[in-house]
Amino acid sequence: MHPQPTDISDELRGCGLRVTAPRRAVLEWLLDHPHATVDQIHPGVRNRLGTISKQAIYDVLSACLEVDLVRQIKPAGHAARFERRTGDNHHHLVCRGCGEIADTDCHSGVAPCVNPVIHNGFAVDEAEIVFWGLCQHCQQEHLT
Ligand SMILES: [Zn+2]
Ligand SMILES: [Zn+2]
Repeated sequence: MHPQPTDISDELRGCGLRVTAPRRAVLEWLLDHPHATVDQIHPGVRNRLGTISKQAIYDVLSACLEVDLVRQIKPAGHAARFERRTGDNHHHLVCRGCGEIADTDCHSGVAPCVNPVIHNGFAVDEAEIVFWGLCQHCQQEHLT
């Protein structure tokens, strides 16, 4: 597992980012709500801060993505999701029914954990793996 950060302000400073209330609030909220969309992050963070625009959320996320404090996943057909678990090359299970996302560890922990059969001279540094299927809940709905 990714070690839990001790202090978000230290993390921000360590990445050369200024510590601001919106940045702290977004990163804090995401710790408790992995794989959240901007539409989920916005009301969650607004509850903590009082007022913040959706654009401000986008700004925080793009700054944090750049320095790898946040990871973005974009399963085809779904809104982008954001999470704090970065740098461990973990993969995702995505439910075709309800869009639920779960983490699954990478076998090797190092990218790229699978290699293309033909690499065509590419220097491959990452393989983005999404496992598609139905979550437990949706499997049950499927049966009844
Ligand atoms: Zn589901
Ligand atoms: Zn994840």
